[in-house]
Amino acid sequence: MKYFVANWKMHKTCAEALDFLEYFKNISLSKEEYVIIAPPFTLLWPLSKSLQDSKIKLSAQNMYCEDKGAFTGEISPIQLKDCNVDYVIIGHSERRNIFHEDNELISKKLKKAFEYNITPIFCVGETLEQRQKGLTFDTISNQLSAGLAKLSEDEISKIIIAYEPVWAIGTGVNATPEQAEEVHLFINSFIQKNYFKNKNSDVKILYGGSVTPSNIKDLMNISKIDGVLVGGASLQQESFLKIVKYKGEDK
Ligand code: PEP
Repeated sequence: MKYFVANWKMHKTCAEALDFLEYFKNISLSKEEYVIIAPPFTLLWPLSKSLQDSKIKLSAQNMYCEDKGAFTGEISPIQLKDCNVDYVIIGHSERRNIFHEDNELISKKLKKAFEYNITPIFCVGETLEQRQKGLTFDTISNQLSAGLAKLSEDEISKIIIAYEPVWAIGTGVNATPEQAEEVHLFINSFIQKNYFKNKNSDVKILYGGSVTPSNIKDLMNISKIDGVLVGGASLQQESFLKIVKYKGEDK
C-alpha cells in the first residue's frame, strides 16, 4: 500500500475544498492507493461530512499535546477525533522553524496522538546547511531519537515517518531519488537497530519535498518508500491525481 498525503497548509476556503473533494472522491482508488488529505483545521468538520462514504482519510496538520484547557489558539486530539481525523502531521519543518517547536514538544505531541488513536505522520529532515556540513544523518538520528523517546515499541511500529529535507520543501528542488533513498534506508536501519532488536518491523517512510507529477515515478522507485507527502502539487486536483495515479494505469 502506498500513501499519498496532501498537505494543504494555509490554503483553501471551505467552498474550494469541497469542490476539490467533489471531484476527487469519485476517483476509484485501488487497494494500493491510500489517500489522506490534511486541510486547515477549519475545514476538518465539513470535509469529514463530505468524505463519509469515501476511502479518503483526514489528517490534521498539527495538534497540541494536552487533552483540553487554557491553551488559546491550540487544538486538542479530542477535538480532532470529533472531526473523524485519523492522522496528524507532527514536527513539520514549518512548525519547527517558524513556530519554534522543539524536539521535546514534538515528542509529547507524538505520545498524545497515540493516546487518542490518531496516527502521527512524523516529519524529519535536514536543512541545506546541515547537509552541506555533512550533518544529514546526525540531524535525522537526533530528531528520531528525541521524537520517539516516549513511544512504546508498538507505537513506533504504527508511526508514519516523513523524510522531508527542508531545502526541498516548497522550493521546486526535490531530493534526487539517490539522495532520498540513502536517507530512507538510513531511517529504516536506525529504527530497526534501535527499537526492534528482536524482530523486523515494517516502519512506514514517506518522502516529501517538491514532489510533482514529473518526479513522482522516479521517487516511488527507490528502496523503502511507502508514499509521499505533497504540499504545492496537492492543491490542484489534476496534479494530485497524476501523483496518485503515477503508474499510469487506471486500476
Ligand atoms: C510539505 O510541506 O510537506 C511539502 C512537501 O511541500 P512541497 O511539496 O510544496 O515541497
